[in-house]
Amino acid sequence: MLENYLEINIDRIRENIINIKNESRSLFCAVVKANAYGLGAVEISQNIEDIVDYFAVARLQEAISLRENKITKPILVLGYVGINDIKLCHDYNIDITIYDFDFAKEINKLNYKVNCHLALDTGHSRLGFRNFEINKINKLKELKSLNIIAAFSHFATADEEDSYYTDYQYKVFNEMLDAINFDLDFVHISNSSGAMKHRIYKNMIRVGLAMYGLYPSDVVKNDSDIKLSRSFNLYSTVSFVKNIKQGTAVSYGRTFIAEKDMKIATITIGYADGYFRAFSNVGEVYIDGKPCRVLGRVCMDQIMVDVSNLDVKIGDRVEVYKDIDLEASKASTISYELMTSISPRVNRRYIRNGKYLKTHNNLGEIYES
Ligand SMILES: *Cc1c(COP(=O)(O)O)cnc(C)c1O
Repeated sequence: MLENYLEINIDRIRENIINIKNESRSLFCAVVKANAYGLGAVEISQNIEDIVDYFAVARLQEAISLRENKITKPILVLGYVGINDIKLCHDYNIDITIYDFDFAKEINKLNYKVNCHLALDTGHSRLGFRNFEINKINKLKELKSLNIIAAFSHFATADEEDSYYTDYQYKVFNEMLDAINFDLDFVHISNSSGAMKHRIYKNMIRVGLAMYGLYPSDVVKNDSDIKLSRSFNLYSTVSFVKNIKQGTAVSYGRTFIAEKDMKIATITIGYADGYFRAFSNVGEVYIDGKPCRVLGRVCMDQIMVDVSNLDVKIGDRVEVYKDIDLEASKASTISYELMTSISPRVNRRYIRNGKYLKTHNNLGEIYES
């Protein structure tokens, strides 16, 4: 039943965390939003909790799921939490993000003590108080049920060659920190790129992609001394191999017509597994270490690839994203989106201490003999 599986090596994730921490000498907030970028938030969080200080997620449900699975370290919801869910944040001891004064007043009226991180918008323009709202921020002090323990911001361009905007955001952040009037336990601004390229740490960094072993960009890779090791691989399976004649059409819409006689293989992955339809005619998978181009349209559950001159048979293993950044660029996207798109149907298989932990997808667990 392992036609498609995402193999996640938790040993490598731990190695990446330790390497980053050794350089930053700061607290480490593990960003495990979006099911840990598709790799599995519960399994990963449980297996790294001993070496991280904080967890961050995007949605309250993600935070509650971690608590329900015995995660006890602090968890911050980086995004919106509705007023009717504030009691849950209190009950589950989940930190929330504060970025609107009137909304903060509504929260305060409920009288549930909650830990709060102030979001400061220094130029990303998503969530956060801006630098002309210092008075408003300081008035939050009067809201006694809000336990404001941290302030943070978020970089817009920390992965790019030109540092000017990151420097600017960092300057605005520091000015705002100077102007606000709180005793903060945690101050954090850097994502993977901020920490690795710009070496900005404050007293905590929020790391997602790098923890999973990918560099946010080539610039970050070149400018960092940290050697990351990729923690995951997506595998699929050859289901059929055949020779086709010149002129044969392949897949829906006949967008590929063989220009010569060729050998093609059918593979058990499609867009319902998160293999984008945008890979039609451009994606490349690897069989036995050799590149095989996608021929014609990606189907819901299958693709056809070129295996001319290769020795390929039914049941062979296929590596789907050998160079994930290159593949992402072919689909006009980034590795983050390819990772988070790997669908729940794809089995996740975990390795810890060199041994398989468990393998499961949304349909259940697979017990391997
Ligand atoms: C997703 C996210 C991060 C992590 O970003 P990476 O580039 O994966 O390290 C950090 N902070 C915030 C606010 C985020 O939304």
